[in-house]
Amino acid sequence: MREALARAEAAEGLGAFITLVPEALEKARTLDVRRAAGETLGPLAGVPVAVKDNLCTAGVLTTAGSKSLTGFVPPYSATVVERLEAAGAIVIGKTNLDEFGMGSSNENSAFGPARNPHNPDFVPGGSSGGSAAAVAAGITPLALGTDTGGSVRQPASFTGVLGFKPTYGALSRYGVIAFASSLEQVGVLARSTRDLELALSVMFGHDPHDATSLASPPDLTGAHGDLTGVRVGKVRELCGDGNSEGVLGALARTEATLKALGATVGEVSLPHAPYGTAAYYLVAPAEASSNLARFDGMVYSYRSGEDRLGQAEVMRRSRGESFGPEVRRRILTGTYALSAGYYDAYYGKALKVRRLIAGDMARAFTSYDLLLTPTAPTAAYRLSEKGDPLAVYMGDVDTVLANLAGVPAVSVPAGTAEEGLPCGMQFMAPALQDARLLRVAGALEAAAGKSFAPVAADFL
Ligand code: GLN
Repeated sequence: MREALARAEAAEGLGAFITLVPEALEKARTLDVRRAAGETLGPLAGVPVAVKDNLCTAGVLTTAGSKSLTGFVPPYSATVVERLEAAGAIVIGKTNLDEFGMGSSNENSAFGPARNPHNPDFVPGGSSGGSAAAVAAGITPLALGTDTGGSVRQPASFTGVLGFKPTYGALSRYGVIAFASSLEQVGVLARSTRDLELALSVMFGHDPHDATSLASPPDLTGAHGDLTGVRVGKVRELCGDGNSEGVLGALARTEATLKALGATVGEVSLPHAPYGTAAYYLVAPAEASSNLARFDGMVYSYRSGEDRLGQAEVMRRSRGESFGPEVRRRILTGTYALSAGYYDAYYGKALKVRRLIAGDMARAFTSYDLLLTPTAPTAAYRLSEKGDPLAVYMGDVDTVLANLAGVPAVSVPAGTAEEGLPCGMQFMAPALQDARLLRVAGALEAAAGKSFAPVAADFL
């Protein structure tokens, strides 16, 4: 614990954390005493974990990367955090993120960007950029993120670690500051498949506080084993043009390794995949416009100073002053897409595309056990390199599909692409078949050996 906190402090320039929890050390000491007294401790006893700052933590500042939550200290913890702590894990800090999870580079944080530990001139990805940076820099072996359209998998890819988004409903969303509820899942970042499995297994399970929580969680037996006879379908629409040379190289290497491990790799079509990003960027902002209506400066969020202006004006100013440009853009486009006269043309059509994508996937899974795509079309880019929001949105083309369809997906490190920076490959499985993803990740990890998810030290 001492080492994790020291490393977090040494890595301050990475901007991985918004808040550190120095009390973690005392908690670790208490566990040492209990262990010495012969008590049986939980499977994660004393393991330092980092938690994305849109997950509520009792008594610890929770910002969601936004000025609008200034001073918010939740009176309760998210169920996933409670379950990790019940297993003995200790939260050492709250990690940086794009405001409310809206972004793909961590540059939309009100607390400044997080940086890529493999090269601090580059973004760590987003929106769970701080969690990815903390794990890649070897500060914690595990971190929690949230994944609405790729926010666990894409930063995992950019920083060379594992990123797992479970089946929709497998992990409780109670205590997650909501962005787009029908798409969102908590996810885990780690450097080893075993760690990933351990974290998932203590967090899985029904939560009566979340109406979308599954009655019974995915069964993780089958998470180990070789890949003999496993049928992998490479998604035609996402594995060619539009990807960088480096990413295509990593894809070819992964394909060769899969075959060497006994899997068969074929090509499969998801005809509606090219429309996924457009559908996502209607559904997600629509839900965001509704979810974020609660931040009106009346109860606990940021309130504009001038109280005598009347309620409507205070609300207007509070929202205008506290939301960053990307959040405002989402609220505007989402409200527009839901408004009378436009609902059918935009939101309604996006829902139809969503259904078609789920259908494409169901069809693909009748012939294949797993679907393979790059996690993102490129490796990490430089800070401030992408000014145009649409260019950033297009980078989510691979990841949004799993959220639209509610299926589990993992990003597995696949070596380096451009400029020596890491990149990952994405596997998707049918709903509830989360174990298949752990199995393929574990097999690729064993094949890669020590080079699988190396700790980045460039930032020191
Ligand atoms: N990059 C996507 C977005 O900006 C996904 C974000 C997420 O998964 N939270 O909406």
